[in-house]
Amino acid sequence: MSATAINDAHCHFFSARFFAALAAQRAPSGSGTAADVCDELQWELPDTPEALADRWLAELDAHQVNRAALIASVPGDEDSVAAAIARHPARFVGFFMLDPSAPDAPARATRAVAQLGLRGICLFPAMHQVPLDDERVGKVVEVAAAHPGVAVFVHCGVLTVGVRRRLGLPSRFDLRLGDPRAVARLALAFPQVPFIIPHFGAGTLQDVLMAADVCPNIHVDTSSSNSWTRYTPGLTLQAVFASALAVLGPMRVLFGTDSSFFPRGWQRGVYEEQRRILDALGTGGADAALIFGGNFDALFSPSVKP
Ligand SMILES: [Zn+2]
Repeated sequence: MSATAINDAHCHFFSARFFAALAAQRAPSGSGTAADVCDELQWELPDTPEALADRWLAELDAHQVNRAALIASVPGDEDSVAAAIARHPARFVGFFMLDPSAPDAPARATRAVAQLGLRGICLFPAMHQVPLDDERVGKVVEVAAAHPGVAVFVHCGVLTVGVRRRLGLPSRFDLRLGDPRAVARLALAFPQVPFIIPHFGAGTLQDVLMAADVCPNIHVDTSSSNSWTRYTPGLTLQAVFASALAVLGPMRVLFGTDSSFFPRGWQRGVYEEQRRILDALGTGGADAALIFGGNFDALFSPSVKP
């Protein structure tokens, strides 16, 4: 393994409140609990956010990962991630899922970044069915623009939520709405705001490259198994990395894993595969150091307080 410091730009903070929200969606009568859901999944039931933060910290230490973005993965769970970053501010950066259709979305976003210190507003337009050119999205991006050091993460392309599928929860997502060209429109309107498109656009690579080529404030993350590559015959993850590096350069590609639940923990296999790919492409030394850690520190400097 290389001595390069690793930062993971994409991990999910599956708090007790996250599982309780899934249980409630499943059993509107209130008969299901977070514990029932975790039992069924055979995943660990998280204790308090502080205890889950400590679990994550031990996991990062075990894999020599320096810092990680932790995403509150259900709307309204900002406080869980806030508790984690308050406990280990040097190691965690807080992101949160926001539904821009909620009437209080701009106020929630302002509270999350200005009071709780979170640094990434995560939009899932296909899930929340709000087009990126809707003014409600603009109001949320304005919050990021007013708080330097805050990025906007926009999920594009195919959206599947494994835990919803396993629990039999419906996922009627509108895949048309996760369009990188619509991210480009926002990124041009808010040139000071960094935008992050996860998973190289999850099936929309060509449009992501086009958007990023015209918008220097668009970044990608490399997270997950990137199984969307099978939508393009013959496409390999190595070719995806090569294209992304050719268009975005090494400074706008952020390593991530999409790790989420325990006991599985940090997905070392994703790291090892991507390290092998970059080695094969001859992307070593300083460029690899940027992708695996430096770019994340540049976007989310520990010394900046939004
Ligand atoms: Zn994810």
